[in-house]
Amino acid sequence: MLGYCDDSHLDRVEALRLDPALAPTLWTRADAVVLEVSPRGVLADSAGEPARRAPHEPFDPERHLLLGLVTGVPYFAALVEDEAPVVEFRIAAMAWDDTLRDAVTTTLALSNWHRESRFCSKCGSLTEVALAGLVRHCASCGRDRFPRTDPAMIVAVRDADDRLLLGRQSVWAPGRFSLLAGFMSAGETLEACVRREVAEEAGIVVGEVTYLASQPWPFPRSLMLGASAVALTTSIQVDQRELEEARWVSREDLDQALATGELSLPANVSIAHRIIAAWRAGELPKP
Ligand SMILES: [Zn+2]
Repeated sequence: MLGYCDDSHLDRVEALRLDPALAPTLWTRADAVVLEVSPRGVLADSAGEPARRAPHEPFDPERHLLLGLVTGVPYFAALVEDEAPVVEFRIAAMAWDDTLRDAVTTTLALSNWHRESRFCSKCGSLTEVALAGLVRHCASCGRDRFPRTDPAMIVAVRDADDRLLLGRQSVWAPGRFSLLAGFMSAGETLEACVRREVAEEAGIVVGEVTYLASQPWPFPRSLMLGASAVALTTSIQVDQRELEEARWVSREDLDQALATGELSLPANVSIAHRIIAAWRAGELPKP
């Protein structure tokens, strides 16, 4: 129901990467697919879709990162410095199949990390790509570093009447509302993060927290953990540093506000959109 890429056929072939000949050999395959990615995003074709090219230059282990195999076909991300137009991920991604969405999301997250992680965080030496893009290795101190993912939570808080808590930030377009969200602090559990953020942002005390689904969000490399939570209190006290406004909505309230244009919701590529849709359809666990 809420899974982001449950039907993806991208196999990251992590065990096969121990063979240093794997990526250079796959790069020579006539059917290999390359997604080029600049610091601004994945390069687009004339239709605005991800440009899927064949390898057209010698293999460079520092720039050519193996994403994996898609039903046997090698997929690579190629780091480029290019001013060409890029894919509007937030708009285009929901129309893609799970495999393409997985490949593009992985390309963005991986390239963002590699571009920022050239130097060893322990000794400061220049690092090199290993395991066909899965790791950066420091030959100076021997340390391996793996791509970092930053967890954040996004939560559907409901009260006893199954109303949903929505909030908006002042920087958003007028009328735009979404679920409450926030980054996890070091050492924090998902449940504790939900309770802390909802209390900080809206003054609501939350009881039981249930995990729903996750979504990698490659700006630059987060993992959104979607949750459902039961509100133990309903009186809203907004922390203006985090939110401009928060409100409880029933399904009827939301239908009406959407119909009049008073309120708008996040784009359908986001897990927020899908969780809200599931609540409207009565598909979330009852509070
Ligand atoms: Zn080092």
